[in-house]
Amino acid sequence: MNKKLMKWADENIIFVGNSNTNRSNRRGHRPEMIVNHISEGSISSLINWFTNTTNTESSAHFAVDRQGKVYQFVDIEDNAWANGLTSGIGNATASVVLQKGKDINPNWYSVSIEHEGVYSQTKGQLTPKQLESTKILHSYIIEYIYDKYSFKIKPNRDRIIGHKEIDKVQRANCPGELFPFDEIIDYLRNYSEPFLDISGHWAKEQIIKAYQDGWIKGYPDGTFQPDKPITRAEVVAIILAKHNSD
Ligand SMILES: [Zn+2]
Repeated sequence: MNKKLMKWADENIIFVGNSNTNRSNRRGHRPEMIVNHISEGSISSLINWFTNTTNTESSAHFAVDRQGKVYQFVDIEDNAWANGLTSGIGNATASVVLQKGKDINPNWYSVSIEHEGVYSQTKGQLTPKQLESTKILHSYIIEYIYDKYSFKIKPNRDRIIGHKEIDKVQRANCPGELFPFDEIIDYLRNYSEPFLDISGHWAKEQIIKAYQDGWIKGYPDGTFQPDKPITRAEVVAIILAKHNSD
């Protein structure tokens, strides 16, 4: 992960989960998609609910409020209780969910983000600050997973989805038809530079593309060093990284 993003996370993600926050083990699955939600209430009621002893049914990894503040309840390594197949696989339309099938709980292989808002008022539209924060948060989650699991979540609508795509009947309005999927994906594809030292390089676009397709990784210090000679070991590492991300 590049240092800019790491610094952003350190300064902006407020961990508010507690011992009452619902979470469980991923049972060997790795996170492979991001699921977006609308909170249907204020951020304070959401925080209260996700940390309450009486809540034994739901949680999420992250929440972004209307001021753009980012809260975390559950570690990415654990699964949150946000995206279950409560009314069966028949209500799912997400391709990844349909491929995995009814016996694999989508919570095991997803990361969830709540967005403060009420559907009847916003239809899922975000405030400018909220949109800015969730874009960077998406980028952070993708980088975090790549570092930890060597799996690259590709920025497309198969992998960046809404709750509705898991349950089109019971969650038809989550996160809402005006939720800015296209803007988030456009940002992830074109503006979130994965490395510190490629702006201005003639091959920048191709480097970002190769990175997003899982072909290449940078150095631990966040650089790509585009003009450095490559060793045979690094060639092998590239091929294995690609193999593991398919
Ligand atoms: Zn939802």
